[in-house]
Amino acid sequence: MTTTNTQYALAADIGGTNIRAALINSEGRLIGRGSISTDPERGIDDASDRLAKLLNAARSTAPADAEIVGVGVSTAGPIRPATGTYNHPPNLPGWHDKTMKPRLAESMSLPVWVGHDATLAALAETRFGDHVGAENLVYVTISTGVGGGIITNSEMVTGASGGAGEVGHLAIRTGSYRCNVGCDGCFEGNACGPAIARAARDRWTGEGPLADLADGDPDNITSRMVFDAADEGDPIAQEVVDLTVENVGIGLGSLMNIFNPEALVIGGGVVQGLQRHWQKLQETVIERSLPGYGDTIPLTATRLGDDVSLLGAAQLAFRQARRL
Ligand SMILES: [Zn+2]
Repeated sequence: MTTTNTQYALAADIGGTNIRAALINSEGRLIGRGSISTDPERGIDDASDRLAKLLNAARSTAPADAEIVGVGVSTAGPIRPATGTYNHPPNLPGWHDKTMKPRLAESMSLPVWVGHDATLAALAETRFGDHVGAENLVYVTISTGVGGGIITNSEMVTGASGGAGEVGHLAIRTGSYRCNVGCDGCFEGNACGPAIARAARDRWTGEGPLADLADGDPDNITSRMVFDAADEGDPIAQEVVDLTVENVGIGLGSLMNIFNPEALVIGGGVVQGLQRHWQKLQETVIERSLPGYGDTIPLTATRLGDDVSLLGAAQLAFRQARRL
């Protein structure tokens, strides 16, 4: 009798609201899943101790002969991946210049590796998504903001201080809208969910399907309503959707030209709407990419869902454990 020597990693995903954890095997199967609220104001040490409990609960679901390689942590950033030190994280107030890596490693008696959530989402796509083995992959998430993760020559692109991959601030339409940071015409300011709603609000007529969906109040508009109203023939919503598809296509075309990826994967809440305009989006990306790419633009929507960063955290652990 031989036993199959499946490896496992403990994985955590730290966001501003919730911390999720699971035990994940090398095939990407999640077991022992759990979650707690982040409560960042209670401090990073408190969060680390509560996360250790959550991870130990996940660990207790492992088969008796399981080999657990370590702990991978995906987190909202900005963060320096080598040390896990935060750099003014907007969604984790009070955690600036702090790290949970040494404390968590001691609590768990396991090595701990930390990465930025969007970068780890890109890493997950190269192992568990539709592009297994891709050596060059760009992942773009379009939801309340626009973020990105980049894998180049099989390595995660992190930059000098962990700030690389902020594709949301790529300028795509100067002279138009700004993001919350204030940059002129960036991808996020012109294509994230709130930006789509704002563009529709600024064209508000008070009539038609969009006005009905918003109960007559422009402040109620969401990006989902804009996509739905466009499907129902609302001319303002259609104008905003066309503009959004063009804006996203311009951003993605630039990323094609800079990184020449085998796969360009988009995720996030706005993707559901964009999927209804996929052909137009694809045509725009082709139009905005250098001529050599032609129809070979490798654009896909993620199918890893909400678990993408947890899977990326596990893959970080599997990868780094091999390098020990
Ligand atoms: Zn910006």
